[in-house]
Amino acid sequence: MEATIVVLAGDGIGPEVTGEAQKVMEVVAEKYGHQFHFSAQLMGGRAIDELGTSLPDETVEACRRADAVLLGAVGGPKWDNPNAADRPERGLLAIRKELRLFANVRPVKLHRQLIGASTLKEEVLQGVDLVVIRELTGGIYFGPRQEAGAEAAEAYDTMLYTRPEIERVVRLAAETAMGRRKKLASVDKANVLASSRLWRRVATDVLAEYPELETEHVLVDAMSMHLIRRPASFDVIVAGNLFGDILTDEASMLAGSMGMLPSASLGDVANSQGLPLGLYEPIHGSAPDIAGQSVANPLAAILSTAMLLRHSLGLEREAAAVEAAVDQVLEEGVRTPDIAHTGTEVVGTQVMGDLVTSKLRAMTA
Ligand code: NAD
Repeated sequence: MEATIVVLAGDGIGPEVTGEAQKVMEVVAEKYGHQFHFSAQLMGGRAIDELGTSLPDETVEACRRADAVLLGAVGGPKWDNPNAADRPERGLLAIRKELRLFANVRPVKLHRQLIGASTLKEEVLQGVDLVVIRELTGGIYFGPRQEAGAEAAEAYDTMLYTRPEIERVVRLAAETAMGRRKKLASVDKANVLASSRLWRRVATDVLAEYPELETEHVLVDAMSMHLIRRPASFDVIVAGNLFGDILTDEASMLAGSMGMLPSASLGDVANSQGLPLGLYEPIHGSAPDIAGQSVANPLAAILSTAMLLRHSLGLEREAAAVEAAVDQVLEEGVRTPDIAHTGTEVVGTQVMGDLVTSKLRAMTA
């Protein structure tokens, strides 16, 4: 297969972790006979510094033409001025909108070798394997708002959803659940919010098309509790933008470290393979506190390439091989500092990337 992948390395540890992720994809190409063309583009803080905008037009164009986009992370203290005309995060929100990426898919699977790295008890974590699907381009992050100056005594945001916005994300969640354990929980706050009552009504209509699914509607406050009390009982969880944002961070703690979790943002734009053009990124940010020290954990970025191979290129065997290579490295007790504990061997970013690539090379295809 021939495919074009845009790499938005971004800021902070972004370039360090995407460097390792690209290295892994190059080995996948070599081993399985594919041709991946990588195109590095600017977005975020570095783009503001070099081109005066967090999302240059060339970047948007390159992403539109690509089969998939791999992102590191954007942002950092240098660009944190709240009064600045442009901010790195604006680029991220805008590219999601430009590429119509309406769903963020975040698998949370506990690597059994890391069970000790979580703050939760082992018996609660046993068997955790869930996917949170968050609506990404609607809801309160995009509804009408008012913020009349820094001194204003009043401000508001609006949680606005339309039937088609809810339908498409619930349908994607239902399809995801059909390919897994056939369980789906839809999250809302229908006892209080009008937009949530619409969410529940539309979700109920869509889910009626999937009689094989075991479905439930859960209030967001109850879900935040269930997620840490009985996380293994969930398979696919779908939620609106704000609730999904909060729940995905909570769910990430089930896996022990931010440095381990990948994500995919998917939409309805097809790439040259006839598959969804997606944006793939680790869930963590740019970690300015450790940037440039070669200690960042590249595994979330590497696991994001596995999602890219699976969802945007349809290369399931290659995706599974990357995931297996990561598991093998962890199995041998090798860790970056964020997931290290007594008895493990601590390595830096590049060595971790090298170990994953050598496991991949050694694997029988
Ligand atoms: P962060 O995820 O960058 O860091 C939180 C903590 O986790 C830090 O202690 C960091 O060192 C650690 N950490 C994160 N990733 C790690 C990795 N791969 N290996 C080892 N340790 C890791 O969150 P933050 O500190 O709240 O945000 C820093 C910057 O990142 C901010 O400017 C924020 O806006 C930005 N951010 C960007 C994205 C994105 O680009 N998608 C997401 C979240 C935050």
